[in-house]
Amino acid sequence: MTSKSTKLVSAGRNSNQYSGVVNPPVFHASTILFDNYTEFKKALSGRHEGASPYGRHGTPLTRELEAALQAIDGYDKVFVTSSGVTAISTSLLSFLKPGDHLLMVDNTYDPTRRFCKEELAKFNIETTYYDPTIGADIAKLIQPNTKVIFMESPGSLTFELQDIPAIVDIAKANNITTIIDNTWATPLYLDTKALGVDVTIQAGTKYINGHSDVMMGVISCNKKHAGKISRTYKNIGAQLAPDDCYLALRGLRTLAVRLKQHEANALYLAKQFQNHSKIQAVLHPALSGNDIFKRNFTGSSGLFSIVLNKAYNDDELAKFFNHLQHFGMGFSWGGYESLAIPFWLDDIRTATKFAYNGSCIRIHAGLEDKEDLWQDLQNALEQLG
Ligand SMILES: *Cc1c(COP(=O)(O)O)cnc(C)c1O
Repeated sequence: MTSKSTKLVSAGRNSNQYSGVVNPPVFHASTILFDNYTEFKKALSGRHEGASPYGRHGTPLTRELEAALQAIDGYDKVFVTSSGVTAISTSLLSFLKPGDHLLMVDNTYDPTRRFCKEELAKFNIETTYYDPTIGADIAKLIQPNTKVIFMESPGSLTFELQDIPAIVDIAKANNITTIIDNTWATPLYLDTKALGVDVTIQAGTKYINGHSDVMMGVISCNKKHAGKISRTYKNIGAQLAPDDCYLALRGLRTLAVRLKQHEANALYLAKQFQNHSKIQAVLHPALSGNDIFKRNFTGSSGLFSIVLNKAYNDDELAKFFNHLQHFGMGFSWGGYESLAIPFWLDDIRTATKFAYNGSCIRIHAGLEDKEDLWQDLQNALEQLG
């Protein structure tokens, strides 16, 4: 079988259709003209055979990007969206209606929690948060109106892992759709399709594009769920803009090599932190000796967290962050550059209690030299009392 890194290079090219150029070109399009009256009538009834009847449905380049993403995740159908959050909102709205109940993992990405609280609640869709380590006990939280179980493994601040197969089994037995946010591992390091998850979303903004210059999302699903998602995707108008399709496809080509370097750098830094006197805990899925990691993942990416040995105030934390040379402070991650931010969990955990009391810092290990990165972090740690 062709390996994923080979597919990353070859899928979604079709150079013979584009005068031999290696990278498929950008199509800037809203209006797309039909050959004749019959084709126009077909489009009105949704039976048009071309790549797309209208810009909102994408362009030929959108189809190439989707094909390349599909080649690495193995699902039947891929949709690309204007952000990771549109991938989340579109997939949730595809399967939920007023009166339904959603099970949401407690360590989910904060804006996902906000979408449930501020948007789904408006439509009388109730959300219950569950402990990421719940496993098969999720059965106890299922109600007659539970329609979706949403997972994220690991969570992108505290990195707890979920027993995906156990949760998928319970969901299937109860006819519940499973959705997972697979942004951290990407399909290269976690094969959610093989684990039986119905719908996988990614913030393509992170590793898929990888260069901190595109917002995008990915929704992947099997045929069974594609119809519902396709309707909601078009009704919302969630499509990805043409230039961003181009940048994302270009970024995707190097995903495998980039991830290897992110992985190696993050593991190196995480191990150094484990031996540092000012660190209470290192939250890195590959270092916790976790059985789930060994069983389900084939690699780890560049994002992990540390807990300092005590809770520092803003003035003290400012000394640490302002001293860093190679780590920028900014939201997002998955680009080629290193980042570090502080985080607080006060408002974003309702079903679980975090086990540590020191200040928390999230690190994204970029593609710089690992010794430079560690030296930088050590120097900054020295600023702390
Ligand atoms: C960033 C992120 C998202 C949202 O992606 P955007 O493109 O910023 O909307 C979703 N899930 C996770 C885990 C993320 O880190």
